[in-house]
Amino acid sequence: MIDFELTGDHKTAADLARDVAGKYLRPQIAELDRQQKYDPEFIKRLKDADLLGICFPEKYGGMGLDYIALGLVCEEMEYVDTTARVIFSVHIGLNSMAIYTWGSEEQKQKYLIPQAKGEQIATFGLTEPAAGSDAIGILTTARKAGEKYILNGEKMWISLADVADNFLIFAWTDTEKQKKRDHTGLSAFIIERKFAGVTTGAIHGKLGVRAGITGWVAMQDVEVPAANLLGYEGEGFKIAMSCLDGGRYTVAAGSTGLIRACMDASKEYASTRKTFTQTIDHHQLVKEMFAEMIYGYEAGRLLWLQAGWLKNKGLRSTRETSLAKWFCTDQAEKAAYNAVQIHGAYGFSDEYPVERFFRNSKGAAIYEGTREIHKLMQADYFLGFRTDHEVRCLLPGV
Ligand SMILES: Cc1cc2nc3c(=O)[nH]c(=O)nc-3n(C[C@H](O)[C@H](O)[C@H](O)COP(=O)(O)OP(=O)(O)OC[C@H]3O[C@@H](n4cnc5c(N)ncnc54)[C@H](O)[C@@H]3O)c2cc1C
Repeated sequence: MIDFELTGDHKTAADLARDVAGKYLRPQIAELDRQQKYDPEFIKRLKDADLLGICFPEKYGGMGLDYIALGLVCEEMEYVDTTARVIFSVHIGLNSMAIYTWGSEEQKQKYLIPQAKGEQIATFGLTEPAAGSDAIGILTTARKAGEKYILNGEKMWISLADVADNFLIFAWTDTEKQKKRDHTGLSAFIIERKFAGVTTGAIHGKLGVRAGITGWVAMQDVEVPAANLLGYEGEGFKIAMSCLDGGRYTVAAGSTGLIRACMDASKEYASTRKTFTQTIDHHQLVKEMFAEMIYGYEAGRLLWLQAGWLKNKGLRSTRETSLAKWFCTDQAEKAAYNAVQIHGAYGFSDEYPVERFFRNSKGAAIYEGTREIHKLMQADYFLGFRTDHEVRCLLPGV
C-alpha cells in the first residue's frame, strides 16, 4: 500500500521553514526585490535554524531528516520567494549532496560538515559564457602539475557566486578528449574562494530572483590540491548529472510552493474584487484559472514526492526527477501567468506580489535543464534512446 501521510518530522521541517521564511523574509521581500538587494542576514537565520543541512546525517553536521523533508522546506521557501529556495538548490541540491555522494571521508569532514552546519556556503559552477545546456561545450581546463591541478576558465550564471565559500567546478582534465567531445575527459573540483586566482562578480539587471545573487566566477591559474578532486579523474560529467538530480528535485519542490503562493494571493484578491455586481471568484472563467493552478499544484506535488521517495530508498531517480522538474516549473509559470491575469491591472503592479512571482517563475524553466532539455529526456527515455547507466556512487538513501 502507498503511504501518502507525512511524518511528524516532515511537518516539523515544513513548520520550521515556514516560520523562518515567513517571519523574517516575507515582510521585507517586496522591498528587497524592488531594490535588487541581497540580505545576508537571511542565510544566517537558515543556519541558526539548522536548515542548511536538513537531509544529511547528524555525523556530517546535518539534521538527520530525509529528502522529503528537504522538498517540503524548498516548497515553503519558494512560497515566500524563489531566492530563498535557490539557496537550497545550490548549497544542498547541487553541491553538498554531491560531496555526500561522491566525496572521500576527508572531503566530507572538510567540506560537507561545515556546509551542513551552515558555517560555509557552497555553490555549483558548470555553466560558462558559451555553454549551458551543452555541458560538454565548456572550456575551463584543469592541468595536472604534481600534487596540484591548475584551473583556468570562467563560469557564468552562478547562483550565490559572490557569497559562496566553496564552489564545485567542472573542468577538462583531458584536452584530447575535449576535442573529441568525450565527456570522460571532464573532472569535478572543490574550489575555495580563498584560493589565489579566484574572483567573482554579480550579474545585474535580471528579470527575476532579484533579491538573490547570480554571478560569474573567474579562475586564473588557480592551484587546487589534488585532494580536492571530487570522485575520480574523468568522472566530472557523471558527477554533474548526479548533482542535477539533486538540484532539479529542489527546484521541482520549490515550484509547487510558488504555485501555492499564486493560488493564495489570487484567492484573497478574487474574493474582494467585484465586477458586474459580484466578486470575481464567482465568474466561471476566473474559476478555470484557479482550477488550472490546483491541477498543477496537486499533480506536481505527487511527482516530486515520488522522486523524493526514490531518493529516500537510495534508488536512481533521474527520469522521475526530470519529469517532476519539467512539470512543476511549467505549471509554476502557468500559475504565475494566471495569477497576474486574475489581478487585472493590479497584477501589473508591484503593489501585489504576483508580478514578482511571474518574473521569478521564468528562471526555473531555464536553469537546471531547460524545458526543452527535459522534454527531450522524457521522449528519449520512452523511445529507448536513453537509459540510465550504472554509476559508481548513488546518493545514499535514508
Ligand atoms: C537565475 C539563474 C541561475 C542559475 N544558476 C546556475 C548555477 O548556480 N550554476 C550553473 O552552473 N548554472 C546556473 N545557471 C545557468 C543555467 O543552468 C543555464 O542557463 C541553462 O543550463 C541553459 O543554458 P543557456 O542559458 O546557455 O542556454 P542554451 O543552452 O544556449 O539554450 C538556449 C535555448 O536553446 C534551447 N536548446 C538548447 N539545446 C537544445 C536542443 N538540443 N534541443 C532543443 N532546444 C535546445 C534551450 O532549451 C534554450 O531555449 C543559472 C541560470 C539562471 C537564469
